[in-house]
Amino acid sequence: MLVTVEGIIIGKRTIGENNCFLDILTDEFGVIEATAHGIRKITSKNAGACGLFAYSKFCLAKSGLKYTLNSAEPKYSFHGLSNDLEALSLAAYFAEIIKTTAAPEQEAEGFLRLMAVSLFEIEKRKITLTQAKAVFELRVASMLGFAPDLRACRSCICYEHEKMYFNYTSGIIICADCLEQLDDSYSELSPPLLYAMRFIVYSDVNRIYHFNLKSTCLNQLSALSERYLLLHTDRNFKSLDYYNSIKL
Ligand SMILES: [Zn+2]
Repeated sequence: MLVTVEGIIIGKRTIGENNCFLDILTDEFGVIEATAHGIRKITSKNAGACGLFAYSKFCLAKSGLKYTLNSAEPKYSFHGLSNDLEALSLAAYFAEIIKTTAAPEQEAEGFLRLMAVSLFEIEKRKITLTQAKAVFELRVASMLGFAPDLRACRSCICYEHEKMYFNYTSGIIICADCLEQLDDSYSELSPPLLYAMRFIVYSDVNRIYHFNLKSTCLNQLSALSERYLLLHTDRNFKSLDYYNSIKL
């Protein structure tokens, strides 16, 4: 059976001299692994559309759970990433999060759009990579079923407070008047930080990167998003360690 899907290549492994396994993030089937024959030959007509992080339209032959690449047509290549090690390693981290948390052969509506929007932002570098990383971590955590509840103080339902506290374990917020005991499962949220978090979790995916935050708040947001994602996915990511090791 032939299937045509749009997707982004989020992993690529060489097999033999000329062949590759491609991990393709799609809306319809989640992350699928496709074998691409002859893709490393200089004459391969599909090579351009099958680079790492290429956004392409793929025609695949499907047999059982196995996919083989027939042809690919490029839509967008994000090739600016290849000259920027820091941005490339952040993209690899985003890819690892999706690869290790997505269930195969299951619809993954929204993840393709999130990945496309995120690669576009880090390729263009209109926002800092610190901001891009924080936004992706918090949004992807929400999409994986760990959406924090940032609507109001869990106890008195106030929407705004000079000091709110975020609980990492439960993902709720509570105001300074209602908090009984402060321990290290909480982080303090200033009003701009809470505003940014609400924006990331509740906005349309096309807008999530479009906000400004002072660098001190951004660093807090970055630490918070990373801790929240790692806690709820209950794992470490090698690509995150690498990104943190090369970050300027
Ligand atoms: Zn309260």
